[in-house]
Amino acid sequence: MKVTVDKNTCIGCGACAAIAPDVYEMTDDTKAEAKKSEVSGDEESKAKEGCDSCPVNAIKLE
Ligand code: SF4
Repeated sequence: MKVTVDKNTCIGCGACAAIAPDVYEMTDDTKAEAKKSEVSGDEESKAKEGCDSCPVNAIKLE
């Protein structure tokens, strides 16, 4: 599964990185980014949890 974060939409709340720190991380510009562009196995469900936690739908999973 591919994980992408739209930095223009991200408001830097940190929810995704708090819920799924193996999948998302906060950068110096206080935006989230995907630690890995592809996830599989257990990380897929964590990626989904992080995505669901985003208040502005900045995370895209495909
Ligand atoms: S949950 Fe959404 S808005 Fe919050 S840091 Fe992650 S991508 Fe950005």
